[in-house]
Amino acid sequence: MIYSCSGIGDCRIGYRPSVGRYGVCPIYEHTAGFEPTHARGRFRVLEGLLEGRLELSKEIAENFFKCTTCGSCKEICHNSYDPCINLPNSYWLDHIKLWEVFREDLLENGYILPRHKEILDWCQKEFNPYMEKHIERINWLKDKKIPNNAEIIFFIGCTGSYRMPSIIDNVIKILEKANVEFGILGEDEKCCGSIALRIGKKTLARELAGQNVEAIKNAGAKIVITHCAGCYKTIKNDYFDILGELPFKILHITEFIEQLLKDGKLKFENETNEIVTYHDPCHLSHSSRIYDAPRNILLNIPKLKLIEMKRNRENTWCCGAGGGVKSGFPELALEIGVDRIQEAKEINADILTTNCPFCLKNLKDAAKKTDTSLNVIDITDLILRALKE
Ligand code: SF4
Repeated sequence: MIYSCSGIGDCRIGYRPSVGRYGVCPIYEHTAGFEPTHARGRFRVLEGLLEGRLELSKEIAENFFKCTTCGSCKEICHNSYDPCINLPNSYWLDHIKLWEVFREDLLENGYILPRHKEILDWCQKEFNPYMEKHIERINWLKDKKIPNNAEIIFFIGCTGSYRMPSIIDNVIKILEKANVEFGILGEDEKCCGSIALRIGKKTLARELAGQNVEAIKNAGAKIVITHCAGCYKTIKNDYFDILGELPFKILHITEFIEQLLKDGKLKFENETNEIVTYHDPCHLSHSSRIYDAPRNILLNIPKLKLIEMKRNRENTWCCGAGGGVKSGFPELALEIGVDRIQEAKEINADILTTNCPFCLKNLKDAAKKTDTSLNVIDITDLILRALKE
């Protein structure tokens, strides 16, 4: 993969307004812009290391941890896909896989950000990256009674469980309104392993993947739904790489709700006159190609005006939080998030919505940094508002 980079450098600037592409790498745009801050330069650094012209150093490590693993460089790279080389679930040249594998090498050689070390240690011990106790993972449940065995299992995720329980409540209300019989894994659910994979601790991710898949199998699930885009990508793509074919289907909640609407099991009745714009989470867009389901849901809401930001779908712009950047470089994550807030303001949106709790958190934090009346809310808030009481 390293030698397949031809060095053209579309991943550096990539301004092609005629196709809606305004920039590629959020890190290149938000740092001093030296060559190793974007994909082409990172390839050259890796070449230098392979050939012994460079040695691992704290600076190289820091540079490689300063990447949101958004996948925008993979998206624009003319070299990432070769129709003659058909790899299951993967690209021929996969920038993200390469960065993640190199991060594994860095960790093995003792290069890790102190904050990332704390998070990984905690994940190993308490199965979440938020420094919370595993036993408190289901505090959001309160007095709700949800079975642990069902054909449809709602995988809650760490962000929902510990930081955004209101989103979990929303999803549950929506499923109940559609009379969907579903279960949860309860205390058997652990961190999906996304943060471990992104930072480079694959051994831990493997353990977590094995434990979660075992719990899902024991629950008798045929379908797993997630709200978190990180959990979705991890279970759908990374678990496949780690464990092979899984005995259940994985759907993002917006794919599931789109189907409920098509089947007539949900119907939006309440209208809204607000102008809404939608942020594509990188784990759903670049990694998983889910573009239409959330938009179709929004377009089903009577009178809702959906207006796109200038960067959308394949050309979307990262919220800034992924790949361990939010925990490792919080200010940088916020700066990138502010880009998105400004884009939503440029089109005079009343509401910026998304369907990933992790993106939502960073976008909310970014909105607080700017003087804006923009309302940043989860897509499930809009869905619930549109449903009859
Ligand atoms: S994955 Fe995103 S942040 Fe990282 S190098 Fe590629 S474009 Fe830049």
